[in-house]
Amino acid sequence: MAGQGHEDAWPRPKTCRIISVANQKGGVGKTTTTVNIAAALAMHGQRVLVVDLDPQGNASTALGMERDAQTRSIYHCLVEDEEIRNLAQPVPDIPNLWCAPATIDLAGAEIELVSLVAREARLKRAFAAYDTTDLDYILIDCPPSLGLLTVNAMVACDEVMIPIQCEYYALEGLGQLLRNVELVKSHLNTGLSISTILLTMYDGRTRLSQQVAEEVRSHFGDLVLNTLVPRSVRVSEAPSYAQSVMTYDPTSTGAVAYLGAAREIAHRAEGLSAG
Ligand code: ADP
Ligand code: MG
Repeated sequence: MAGQGHEDAWPRPKTCRIISVANQKGGVGKTTTTVNIAAALAMHGQRVLVVDLDPQGNASTALGMERDAQTRSIYHCLVEDEEIRNLAQPVPDIPNLWCAPATIDLAGAEIELVSLVAREARLKRAFAAYDTTDLDYILIDCPPSLGLLTVNAMVACDEVMIPIQCEYYALEGLGQLLRNVELVKSHLNTGLSISTILLTMYDGRTRLSQQVAEEVRSHFGDLVLNTLVPRSVRVSEAPSYAQSVMTYDPTSTGAVAYLGAAREIAHRAEGLSAG
């Protein structure tokens, strides 16, 4: 964790950046991206909270969150107004990183939220009641849908980061996601923008991966990070050890790529706070 030399000090945003990691497709790398970008930022002095908004709780698992029937989770925050400070837990072995875990209760939240007041703004309200002055980043791991949980994330955040898998059909469904971002922006959160696109599971040996990367870049231009995350076995192994790949195998190609992606994100903060 230590020993990254001069690179240890990355610029800190002036105020906490709240970023939703969203794509309604499953298996594109949302959770992997959330966990590893969060870990990389924390390892470089940023104070980071991961909010696990997926009932599957994969981010919580990868960050070593112990959960049982008594665990207060993001479900209680959304449905019962539990405060985030009461459920955020420190991530083992990574200083400066916390996680607000998900439990399986969250699977019911999509329906329970429907009848609640300000159902799209429950997470935003929870953030407003939470003192973020000691945080630099909140990363929200969204579920693979565009339902109320994802809408809550988009209402509560400033930026959307979209991981795109360098695979066949990569761009399918993206139009729907972009329209949803626009809808939330025009009706519920005028400050919302898509700030970052990350190409994941890139396989440079295949023409297909290269084509997808080119297509995404020609579509989204500067929003696309220069760093590509390659397909790497170590990345997929890490969660079964309740770890990020940043701690599990920091020298692996996947960890190096996520470090590069996190560095780009942190340095873009300078531009954001300046503008
Ligand atoms: P999502 O959250 O969008 O459903 P995940 O982050 O869970 O996607 O990733 C889906 C699967 O792909 C997981 O098994 C994960 O370990 C694997 N995976 C993600 N990124 C990589 C990568 N760069 N290399 C290899 N496997 C990956
Ligand atoms: Mg996921």
